[in-house]
Amino acid sequence: MSDGTSFQALRAFWKDGPIIQRDFRWGSMIEVYDRLWVANDQFCRNGGGEWSVVHACKSPCHQRAVGYQGSLPKTHANYLILSINQDLFLNIIDPPKPLFMPASFEAFLLFADREWLAGRKLLVHCNQGESRAPSLALLFLAKCRGALSNDSYWAARSEFEKLYPGYKPGSGIQAYLASKWHELGTAPRQGGGLEPARH
Ligand SMILES: [Zn+2]
Repeated sequence: MSDGTSFQALRAFWKDGPIIQRDFRWGSMIEVYDRLWVANDQFCRNGGGEWSVVHACKSPCHQRAVGYQGSLPKTHANYLILSINQDLFLNIIDPPKPLFMPASFEAFLLFADREWLAGRKLLVHCNQGESRAPSLALLFLAKCRGALSNDSYWAARSEFEKLYPGYKPGSGIQAYLASKWHELGTAPRQGGGLEPARH
């Protein structure tokens, strides 16, 4: 497939809406649940209209959105999170040791729940579409939608793998979610019948 053909396919995708796109270089963008899509960074786009987008990668999305190279000082206001309208940019990498911060996951759940309840399509992407983005989608389905078991990360994961066979979580995020499972998703959200977000 030539670059031109691939580009045409990508443009057609965003024009025509939800279909599963597969490409030997890009991988897939898969709707794992009603209006919830998981993809790699080849499918990155800005939120707007019917789409809201979670960019679960430091590079390139969080760096580009906040405007820095290398790393931010931890005291920066947007060190972990930048939320702009229908885009959420997370400073999240995928280290083998669990260095994740609870605030990243709570911000994600807040944003995802708000946007999904507002009737929008939600795209969650990371770099490879194998670890961070599907882990966040799993968390959202278990904690906000009740669509997966909330008994444990492992129980939710065994159900999620049927929805997203390409799930290959890194050892760090896997250990983090397994150990923090019952602490995550306990912050107040707008779900549960409260008012949806206004834009
Ligand atoms: Zn992005």
